[in-house]
Amino acid sequence: MVFQADKMRYQSMQYRRCGQSGLKLPAISLGLWHNFGDTTLIDTSRQLLHRAFELGITHFDLANNYGPPPGSAESNFGRILQEDFLPYRDELIISTKAGYTMWDGPYGDWGSRKYLIASLDQSLKRMGLEYVDIFYHHRPDPETPLRETMKALDHVVRQGKALYVGLSNYPAELARQAIEILDDLGTPCLIHQPKYSMFERAPEQSLLSVLQEKGVGCIPFSPLAGGQLTDRYLNGIPADSRAASGSRFLNPDHITEEKISQVRELNALAESRGQKLSQMALAWVLRHDAVTTVLIGASKTAQIEDAVGTLNNLHFSADELSAIDAILNR
Ligand code: NDP
Repeated sequence: MVFQADKMRYQSMQYRRCGQSGLKLPAISLGLWHNFGDTTLIDTSRQLLHRAFELGITHFDLANNYGPPPGSAESNFGRILQEDFLPYRDELIISTKAGYTMWDGPYGDWGSRKYLIASLDQSLKRMGLEYVDIFYHHRPDPETPLRETMKALDHVVRQGKALYVGLSNYPAELARQAIEILDDLGTPCLIHQPKYSMFERAPEQSLLSVLQEKGVGCIPFSPLAGGQLTDRYLNGIPADSRAASGSRFLNPDHITEEKISQVRELNALAESRGQKLSQMALAWVLRHDAVTTVLIGASKTAQIEDAVGTLNNLHFSADELSAIDAILNR
């Protein structure tokens, strides 16, 4: 059956300006790192995208290496796009990245012009697109001159293969330099994608203020710490959870007693706000003025619904923020 998106899809989502650009992004964005590779049924991935779009999530975040295997998230997304979303292409922001290992040899990794331009061409083919909306350098390359990497980003915009560019995992000072080079080249940096959550507060030290000063947007990834900042692990490790999936990024060793006792206290605080913990964790990331949108992952449509429900209460009192700090600093 042909997919027809709900006519009410723009009623409840908030769209927030990305830095000083002309682009607005939904407060909640959906990442395709997990649950879109060849190990997930395509209809499960399809349902996640349908539900997200129906709730006003217009931004889908990919990378060349998402899968497994690498590349398959883009291929599967491309198939669903062709089958269901083509009439909506102009309503979507589609992002991809290059920077981690993608193919063998010296040209399939890091930040050379050779790698970035070839990788974006491959991504476009896999997704069946003429352009992506945002192309990111996925992580800093300590060996390639920063100007070469930034010139490659500028080049793909001039070629029309990307509308905007972004940085990911760049520490504050390197981000500042990269942003200044991009300004100089005439292709402003749209957005930065750092890891930021209650359990990962490093961006608060200086990255977020650099982004604000430079008028660059911010899209924190893993705002739920891969699911740890939810009720998922309060009573053990469910068989269908990420921690049980053999992921090297989240495994049972990460779910320590100490963390779970913090999560229990955070959960009680969330309940006192009339929210789920997952919602309080997203609202907490969104509370920072530098943050444009939070980049969630989901294995079930109900998790996307929870995330969108966050927007019903984004306010924190000073007492609530102090209580959260006290729990996190324990
Ligand atoms: P999150 O921290 O949002 O974790 C998502 C996971 O948490 C879900 O897959 C699910 O796991 C669990 N979850 C989500 N909602 C709920 C809920 N309401 N109740 C219980 N459990 C819930 O983000 P991710 O780590 O998935 O990262 C999000 C995106 O960020 C990626 O898809 C990718 O696009 C991007 N990213 C970018 C990186 C970069 O280097 N630039 C690195 C990593 C991610 P479960 O399977 O247990 O259901």
